[in-house]
Amino acid sequence: MKTCSYCGKEFSDDATICVIDGNPLVVNNVSLPSIEPCVASKPYQSPGVRAAIISGTIFLFISFRIVALGHGLVLFKIGAVTSVLLGCAVAVSVVVLCSRRSRKVWPWMLVIPVTLVSYIVFARLFLLAISIVLGFLKKDSH
Ligand SMILES: [Zn+2]
Repeated sequence: MKTCSYCGKEFSDDATICVIDGNPLVVNNVSLPSIEPCVASKPYQSPGVRAAIISGTIFLFISFRIVALGHGLVLFKIGAVTSVLLGCAVAVSVVVLCSRRSRKVWPWMLVIPVTLVSYIVFARLFLLAISIVLGFLKKDSH
């Protein structure tokens, strides 16, 4: 008799894999160290998820500041919030792309600075672009 290494169901000796879950069968009288489904001790959060959490926090915080404390035109506020959103999206993309290339585990200590730097660089670029666009729109309306 053979037993499935995963679910424990018994099969005849000529069977090679479990028909239920496809796992290899082991001969009954051989005592193997218990093969358990591989469960990581702590679930690994992908760098993209971490970057999204950081970016989401940045976005909520800065958008709140722009909306609540910002002065001036509604159009400017919308533009500023949009640039923050775009900056956050690019920051997440940068982390995802870089972490895929490096194929290493990205701890928070690496995800946080990369997200922040990309956010600061790209959000400022977008803000600059949006303010230029808004400047043109203002000129046109006059
Ligand atoms: Zn099985």
